[in-house]
Amino acid sequence: MKLGLEGRHALVCASSRGLGRACALSLAGEGVSLTLVARGREALEATAQDIRRATGVEVHAVVADITTPEGREAALAVHPAPDILVTNAGGPKPGDFRDWDREAWIEALDANMLAPIALIRATVDGMIERRFGRIINVTSAAVRSPIDILGLSNGARSGLTGFVAGLARKTVAHNVTINNLLPGPFETDRLRETARQWAQDHGVPEDEVLARRRAANPAGRFGEPHEFGDACAYLCSAQAGFITGQNLLLDGGSYPGTF
Ligand code: NAP
Repeated sequence: MKLGLEGRHALVCASSRGLGRACALSLAGEGVSLTLVARGREALEATAQDIRRATGVEVHAVVADITTPEGREAALAVHPAPDILVTNAGGPKPGDFRDWDREAWIEALDANMLAPIALIRATVDGMIERRFGRIINVTSAAVRSPIDILGLSNGARSGLTGFVAGLARKTVAHNVTINNLLPGPFETDRLRETARQWAQDHGVPEDEVLARRRAANPAGRFGEPHEFGDACAYLCSAQAGFITGQNLLLDGGSYPGTF
C-alpha cells in the first residue's frame, strides 16, 4: 500500500534512537523529509546519515532538548510548518511517589505532557489551514495498565491523553488527526537499560531477565522498533484521515481486556 506521503515534512522528536528513530525511518521510507531532534549530537548525526543513505530523503538534525522552550524553538526553526508531528521524549524515572516533590512532577509534566501540547499548539493551526496534518504522540502502555513505580509517567501521559481526546475531535474536520501510540515492551536502549538495572539490583544475569520478560509476553518476544515505526507511518498516511483520538496499544497482547 502506498501511504500518499511523498513530499511531506515530519518533525520527529527524540529520534536518534529507539522508537522515535523507527518512526523517522518508516516515514522516510514513504518519501517524507525529516527534522530529527535529540540531545546527543553523535547518535543523532549518525541516525540522520543512516536515513539519508537508506532513503535519499532530506534530513535535518537538530541537537536540542525538546522539553524546553528553546529546544522546541530550535526544532521548529528549521521547518516551522511540518505536515506531520511525532511527539516523543524520554520517560520519567521510576520510584515511590512519597519521594517526588513538586520539581519532580513539573519535570515529568514538561517532558510527557506539556512539551507535546506546546508542539501541537505551534503546528496545528498551520495544518488546519493547509488541510492536512497528522500528529502522533508516543505515550506508553502504562496509560492503559498503570505501573506502580512509574507514577510520574502514568500521571503525565494520562494528562496528555485526556487533552488530546478533546482536541482530536475538533481538528479532524480539517483533515488533521491526532492519535497516540502506546508502546508495550520494545527492544530499545531504554528497555535494555532497565533490564540491566533490574538484573544488577536483583543479582540475576541480564540475559535471564530479558528471557523471562520475553516469555511473559503473549507473543513470546519483544516488539521490534520497525513494527512501531510502520504503525506510526500508517497513522500518518493519507488513508488514515478518519482515525483520530485513538490510543493504539502495541504490546503483543499483554493487555488482557476485551476492549
Ligand atoms: P530510547 O531507546 O532510550 O530512545 C530515546 C530517544 O529519545 C533518544 O534518541 C534520546 O536521545 C531522545 N531523547 C530523550 N529525551 C530527550 C529530550 N529531552 N529531548 C530530545 N530528545 C530526547 O527510548 P525508547 O525506548 O525509544 O522510548 C521512547 C519513549 O517511549 C519514552 O518516553 C519511553 O518511556 C516510552 N516507552 C518505551 C517503551 C519501550 O519498551 N521501549 C515502553 C513504554 C514506553 P538523547 O538522549 O541523545 O536526547
